[in-house]
Amino acid sequence: MADAPLFDRLCLLGVGLIGSSIARAAKARGDIARTVVAHAKTPATLERVRELGIVDVVEPDAAKAVQGADCVIFCVPVGAYAEVGAVVAPHLKPGAIVTDVGSTKGSVVRDLSPLLPAGVHLVPAHPMAGTEHSGPDAGFAELFEGRYCIVTPLPDSDPAAVEKVREFWRRCGSMIETLDPATHDKVVAIVSHLPHLIAFTICSTADDLAEETKEAVLKFAASGFRDFTRIAASDPTMWRDVFLNNREALLEMLARFTEDAHALGRAVRWGQAEYIEDRIRRGRKIRRGLIERKQA
Ligand code: NAP
Repeated sequence: MADAPLFDRLCLLGVGLIGSSIARAAKARGDIARTVVAHAKTPATLERVRELGIVDVVEPDAAKAVQGADCVIFCVPVGAYAEVGAVVAPHLKPGAIVTDVGSTKGSVVRDLSPLLPAGVHLVPAHPMAGTEHSGPDAGFAELFEGRYCIVTPLPDSDPAAVEKVREFWRRCGSMIETLDPATHDKVVAIVSHLPHLIAFTICSTADDLAEETKEAVLKFAASGFRDFTRIAASDPTMWRDVFLNNREALLEMLARFTEDAHALGRAVRWGQAEYIEDRIRRGRKIRRGLIERKQA
């Protein structure tokens, strides 16, 4: 027999790739929430979510959407948390859990903590799952299966609320890890934010060059460049917000990367074959490690 639903009323603030994937997972499993309420910013998204039939209630008013919810999940770009948080905070049910899926965690604590009334439990989290697509049509119920979800509780987070958030992600199929927000932000800066920064940059560089080469660069882009273009197809608002809200960690990783890239460039200039080979071998080793961990 299926477990009883974890939440009575689950509210999703934002129903794009991540929010709509949660909605679909909740619908598919039946043991996540009795009722799922969704809110988005634009009438077009609200209408599309209604058409898709992936939630029980579509609510255009954020304040009304959170009323009576025992769990509220922020699934909006991290730059919108303060604005949305200010609207919903006075309407949260006493004892409610507020959690999120944002790609940065220090900013979430900074933006939401001061707004939440006493007795409401903040437990930030970040599912390490995604695609380059966005919007309610992009989601799918299996998105989180076999992927890590990093929960970043605060020192004074209520243990029962933390356990509920962990159980929620377990039911979505994720493997749970716990980190403090600062460590999380450092780790994702290297594994996710810097690769996106590089992908966006390499595509702009190639685009500039394509003008000089009369399109030849884009025409023959099938080799390594193509993999960068997939990452670079990601949502501009989401990634603008991620960069601006993980500024310090991202700039630190970018500085380290730039030093290492210059060192490799120097080895190329001076014909240091051994150094070049060593760097390539390290890349292969990391790839093998990912395959062994089934995260490739
Ligand atoms: P998305 O597909 O672009 O969806 C964003 C959703 O937020 C849309 O429903 C949008 O509504 C809504 N929204 C934006 N601003 C709002 C506001 N001011 N008030 C109310 N709703 C608002 O984005 P996503 O990829 O699902 O990302 C959502 C969150 O997940 C972000 O914080 C991101 O950092 C995190 N995340 C993303 C990925 C990924 O790979 N995409 C992975 C892990 C975590 P409208 O459509 O009406 O504008």
